[in-house]
Amino acid sequence: MTSEPPISYAAEPAAKTWQDHLILHEFYGPLPLEPRRTPMRELISTLLSHRTTHRDEELAYTRMLETFGDWEGVMAAPTTELAYAIRTTRWPDTQAPRIQEVLRRIKAEQGKISLDFLADWSTEQGLEWLMAMPGIGLKTASLVLLFNFRKPVLPIDTHVHRVAQRVGMIGPKASAEKAHKLLLDMLPPDPVVLLNFHKHNYWHGQHICFFTQPDCPRCPLKDFCNYYLEHYGPATEEALAATPSHWNPTWGELQH
Ligand code: SF4
Repeated sequence: MTSEPPISYAAEPAAKTWQDHLILHEFYGPLPLEPRRTPMRELISTLLSHRTTHRDEELAYTRMLETFGDWEGVMAAPTTELAYAIRTTRWPDTQAPRIQEVLRRIKAEQGKISLDFLADWSTEQGLEWLMAMPGIGLKTASLVLLFNFRKPVLPIDTHVHRVAQRVGMIGPKASAEKAHKLLLDMLPPDPVVLLNFHKHNYWHGQHICFFTQPDCPRCPLKDFCNYYLEHYGPATEEALAATPSHWNPTWGELQH
């Protein structure tokens, strides 16, 4: 990865986006694009993860498959029993019928419960098909298509969205949907770059650029971040000395 000359607070969004990518790539380290789970697991786990901790999502997923055996069993299960199996998620009574409807539609349209056909579909076809399912939005569809099928899309979750807005890669009022297109237009259509950009900004939002009190002194983006400039002025030594840190060492190391 090549480095580029430092940029300023007044740089164009495209320059900030690429600099953000280069700096966070160095800061967090490069990631290979390897599927972390099967396409069906990615899809259903993402549905289970809405406003739910990773631990509770995993618990729900494991209980669901232990109780009903496989996707056919989950699809045919009494909905109240499925809701009970996934009770550690935020809205089990909503998610249970939704998951069963998604499974039914996949089976009805593809003849089996598998998403492997998406490998041969175009990115646009895949996005449209997935987003026609109940409860599946652009973020979930993008996660499945990027992680499992190497399609050039960019999942925008709340952390990626917040970092992009604060740095000035997108406008302060750009929605997550708009951010998806704006950021894609500024990044190369390379799935490995898009995966790294997604994961690095996601971690950054989780571990440094917190929602309420970002820990700006530890942040390698402060030399061109709009939020830093607005709150503390340019990141001179003097400004940095006066910038509050919100890091708590007891939180431990970054969880990849
Ligand atoms: S400088 Fe502060 S607000 Fe800007 S990206 Fe870094 S942590 Fe977030």
